[in-house]
Amino acid sequence: QGLPVPGDFGQDTVEAPEPAVGQFLARTLWLSLDPYLRNVMKGHALYGVALQPGEPMHGESVAEVVDSRHPDFVAGELVLLKGGWQQYALSNGAGVRKVDPALAPVSTALGVLGMPGLTGYTGLVYLGEPRPGQTVLVSAATGPVGSTVGQVARLTGARAVGIAGSDAKCRYAVEELGFEACINYKSGDLRASIEQACPDGVDVYFDNAGGEVLAAALANLAMHARVILCGMIDAYNRDTPPASGPFLGPVVAARATVKGHVVFDHLHRMTEMQRVIGRWIREGRFKYREDVTDGLDNAPAAFCRLMRGENFGKALVRVAGYGAGAA
Ligand code: NAP
Repeated sequence: QGLPVPGDFGQDTVEAPEPAVGQFLARTLWLSLDPYLRNVMKGHALYGVALQPGEPMHGESVAEVVDSRHPDFVAGELVLLKGGWQQYALSNGAGVRKVDPALAPVSTALGVLGMPGLTGYTGLVYLGEPRPGQTVLVSAATGPVGSTVGQVARLTGARAVGIAGSDAKCRYAVEELGFEACINYKSGDLRASIEQACPDGVDVYFDNAGGEVLAAALANLAMHARVILCGMIDAYNRDTPPASGPFLGPVVAARATVKGHVVFDHLHRMTEMQRVIGRWIREGRFKYREDVTDGLDNAPAAFCRLMRGENFGKALVRVAGYGAGAA
């Protein structure tokens, strides 16, 4: 209940299983920590699974096939799978995607070239539809979703303005990611700061936070603004919804459109997103940052840090080394 703490988690050591016919065994290399996992812990209907106490935590990982009795996978291949918080995972291949190490560092398959990147890219391009010169405001601006939104906005000719939780995050958004401005919502009057940074109003607000941050953004909408509701991390740690919500009157006054966004509706655009953002990364026009924790033992503490908002970049656990010089 409430904010997770490391004591909520336990660990077990068991024999690595042997794959049966039609299965393969994969060794976890990178484990993704994502805010939605807090909702999986709650049994939120969107994810179709209710995690029970004692079961391994869910989570996506990049893993190396080490033993295969599956016709489509051979030892040594890298795959993206829902392996959970485990050093080894069995799979029957359902929902598994192969990861090409030539495209980019393989950890990006969990971040900017994976589900979070797809969320930011499709939500902004297809729902936000930013036009050159328009202002795109995004919260959690330095995370994998927010940093994708801001950089795609910039690269399509819009003005990117971020909202983030520290001065260091804001500096990074401006100096490294190319945001025009970034506001630390923990200091000062957020509503007034948004007005100052977005003098013509906000054309697209991409919300990753909910709560007071959403309320302050809604107070600064331009005419015909698009509001993309993507994440409400503020609410994930609560056992009941917040008692008071934002006042939605300004949405009506601005004739704005509020669109719900779920990445599952855009999975067919993964190849397009990887082609576009992968090229920008290789050209040095698109940057990303990772917040890496070493060792599966440290996954609970890292996840709790994420849920307290203390991660800086895509939260990952390096579970095992890979390639030359790996431990
Ligand atoms: P992330 O940005 O690394 O998420 C954690 C960040 O959220 C923190 O570093 C913190 O950054 C911010 N945050 C704001 N308010 C917070 C609060 N009350 N408590 C804790 N953190 C808070 O992760 P991400 O993967 O890019 O995800 C961003 C959002 O998109 C999340 O809400 C996630 O659930 C959502 N999402 C939605 C979809 C979808 O299909 N709709 C898919 C993927 C992700 P600051 O310090 O800058 O505030």
